[in-house]
Amino acid sequence: MHGLMMDYQLTMDRILEHANRMFPHKQITTLQPDGSRHRYNYAEAYTRIKRLAKALVNLGIQPGDRVGTFAWNNYQHFELYFAIPGAGAVCHTLNIRLFPEQLAYIVDHAEDQIVFIEASLLPLYERIAHQISCVKHYVLINAPRTIETRLRNVLHYEDLLADADEDFAWRSTDERMAMGMCYTSGTTGNPKGALYSHRSMYLHTIGENQAAALGIVESDVVLPVVPQFHAMAWGLPYACAMSGADLVMPGMHLQPAPLARLIAEERVTVAGGVPTIWMGLYQELKQNPRDLSSLRALVVGGSAMPRSLIEAYERELGVNVLHAWGMTELSPLGTVSILQKHHQNLSDKEKWDVKARQGYAIAGVEMRIVDDSGRELPWDNKSVGELQVRGPWIIRQYFKREHSEDQFTADGWFRTGDVCTIDPYGYMTITDRTKDLVKSGGEWISSVELENAIMGHPDVLEAAVIAIPDDRWLERPLAVVVARPGATLAQEQLRTYLQDKIAKFWMPDHFVFVPEIPKTSVGKFSKTTLRQMYGEGRLSA
Ligand code: AMP
Repeated sequence: MHGLMMDYQLTMDRILEHANRMFPHKQITTLQPDGSRHRYNYAEAYTRIKRLAKALVNLGIQPGDRVGTFAWNNYQHFELYFAIPGAGAVCHTLNIRLFPEQLAYIVDHAEDQIVFIEASLLPLYERIAHQISCVKHYVLINAPRTIETRLRNVLHYEDLLADADEDFAWRSTDERMAMGMCYTSGTTGNPKGALYSHRSMYLHTIGENQAAALGIVESDVVLPVVPQFHAMAWGLPYACAMSGADLVMPGMHLQPAPLARLIAEERVTVAGGVPTIWMGLYQELKQNPRDLSSLRALVVGGSAMPRSLIEAYERELGVNVLHAWGMTELSPLGTVSILQKHHQNLSDKEKWDVKARQGYAIAGVEMRIVDDSGRELPWDNKSVGELQVRGPWIIRQYFKREHSEDQFTADGWFRTGDVCTIDPYGYMTITDRTKDLVKSGGEWISSVELENAIMGHPDVLEAAVIAIPDDRWLERPLAVVVARPGATLAQEQLRTYLQDKIAKFWMPDHFVFVPEIPKTSVGKFSKTTLRQMYGEGRLSA
């Protein structure tokens, strides 16, 4: 027998309608390119979003079409987060840090019909424009009238809005419609698209707003430093609209000083970003102390937050750190490391140990750890296995990719590629990962791709790349290189060679030249051995 409750579609427009009805006066503040602050409220945003959705339809957008965004965190990007799904289309956020080849690949693979581009990022995009044929219109955000561009069919954001009215009925009529898409790097090959549905994102928003998760409420002032082009800014813009929290957008100003000013002056209560951002902010605050008493949670994820930094924030600055783990494939929130009742009697030092772990699964996310043969392992804080997850906001297949056992198990779990232990209370700790990737400042570097680029040099016989610890970026790539017999190679030659072949942040800081790369029994590079040799940054091993 089925229940007799309404079949109410969980679509994102309903979150926006709620914000407009319940919290019309709540504020969205953006730090503009010129340093001034743009302020308006949810009611004003709502009207503009309706106009924008109508304008998209006027431009010919059909249900399911992908619309790209290439922008910083600002109020226009917030509008796009709702207008594109509200028009029945898919908001495809383009990662501005990707190498041009990868960027061109994802625009083309997603078949974006329209791309919204921030004026300051136009030169970056123009480099790939000649490779793109699917895009019918470009819309420039924050662009002066006098701007010159090689792109064709270019419109200005405000003109688009001015030409449409707000008499628009949402086209997001079915909760299973796709609403957003983010590509994420794989160990090999091109990035892969995670395609979110209205239902998955609606449920993720509720999940994130649980008291046992981020628990964002109306009295919060939330600063998402995590980019809107990375895992939907962790869903924070949606979480704010749902709860009526004020939103503060940093725009292009991601440096420590403007962030410190924003937190202090806007009385931010929750700020979210990767550890590298908070490391920079900590250094800044040591030199220029500011009043951070408004902050109730410094949310950090994307990479492991160093325990020392958790302690520094909590002990020296009195700021509560909320460490979280997630993935693009999880929309992205999976676990949070919030202290529970059984931690009450711990010393401060022990509490920081707990906070340095990745934490418990929030309701809506199930996790398990398995060994190499797929056997489930106990939650005893000792058994180490691959983390697998399932739930209503977790991916079941990548966009336009075959179902693959490498990523999804036959019994319906997603394989995260993270390796961890889980304690009897369900607190997870990541100890390693199976994916051959380096995470530098929150963004991925594929070691396999980098190795291939280095091995393209005529004097290189073999190259293996591993992650080594770094104070600022947490991880940086180290290249271990074997030169061809008779060739003499220097770091500078390789740097010059790689310059136009890889993204700038992929460039290894160190190259180590060795006579041979250690191999496994089946002849693969033994990264485990290399990590033992160089993994702690002992470059002279
Ligand atoms: P992304 O999809 O780019 O957000 O990357 C997700 C991956 O980042 C995870 O599978 C982990 O490898 C890593 N990651 C995310 N959050 C954390 C964290 N709190 N601690 C350690 N690694 C993390």
